[in-house]
Amino acid sequence: MAELLYGAPAAKALKEQMKAKIAELSERGIVPCIAVLRAGNDESQLSYERGLGKTFGALGMRLESIQLPEDVSREALCAAIDEINRDKQIHGCLILRPLPGGLETQALLDRLSPEKDVDGITSASLAKLLTGQGPGYAPCTAAACLRLLDYYQVPLHGSRAVVIGRSLVVGKPLSLLLTGRDATVTLCHSRTQKLPEICREAELLICAVGHAGLVDENYVNPSQTIIDVGINVGEDGKLCGDVDFASVEPLIAALSPVPGGLGGVTSAVLAEHVVRAAVEQNK
Ligand code: NAD
Repeated sequence: MAELLYGAPAAKALKEQMKAKIAELSERGIVPCIAVLRAGNDESQLSYERGLGKTFGALGMRLESIQLPEDVSREALCAAIDEINRDKQIHGCLILRPLPGGLETQALLDRLSPEKDVDGITSASLAKLLTGQGPGYAPCTAAACLRLLDYYQVPLHGSRAVVIGRSLVVGKPLSLLLTGRDATVTLCHSRTQKLPEICREAELLICAVGHAGLVDENYVNPSQTIIDVGINVGEDGKLCGDVDFASVEPLIAALSPVPGGLGGVTSAVLAEHVVRAAVEQNK
């Protein structure tokens, strides 16, 4: 039976750590604030934003919702980002994606000031991951994986880690973060040959694919820890990860469940980035 790596206690510990800094800022009249920029009314984006509003509110932080129409022009979107960059009361910005109508280009995302790029989407933030230099933040989901692993004291130094998924949001940045923590990382993707064989060798396996049940008993070993990043709807209509929980859980050492695993940690990491941004911008 695997130890289940629940996200709630890790998120709670992180929020506790942030409270002193939020109080210090508050004494100086500064309320850490995130702008959430949304184009259109996609229900999953709205629901994510509502959840963030609760998290930020409970921490004494502010969330400013900036809503643009579904058919927003590139010029109007750029103007909204410029306004966020200028606004000294806003310390971080989350652009909800995907943006509609082919608007989402790296050039557009790079318009956001890296100092306010709390979800690590700009080229400057990605460069920071590679070099450790300059402004910017790691993408929250990738950073949340490390938070969860650290909370449960999973050793990273010298460990053999396999990451499945090479997106800029999760897989690639995570492989860099793990490398920075002295893990030996193999980054796998849809064209990887002999995926189960590679995964079976891993002490730490992180799956960030978006394919329910991909990781089954052929991918695992008894001393393995798995972080399941995937969010899918299974055949039974229920939320599930990339791991076939029923067949894998009895065979490995530790596993983050879906739901109940990484999700809650990601929003706590986003809040932490906003607090850090507020501190940096008010030195
Ligand atoms: P993406 O579609 O951009 O990338 C998926 C990656 O999986 C690609 O790199 C692709 O090469 C790889 N892949 C696809 N099929 C594969 C296969 N059969 N074998 C091996 N690799 C394969 O997705 P993403 O944005 O990186 O998100 C991945 C998953 O993580 C999704 O389920 C998403 O919903 C979830 N997610 C969760 C959180 C969270 O906070 N928990 C945040 C972001 C994304």
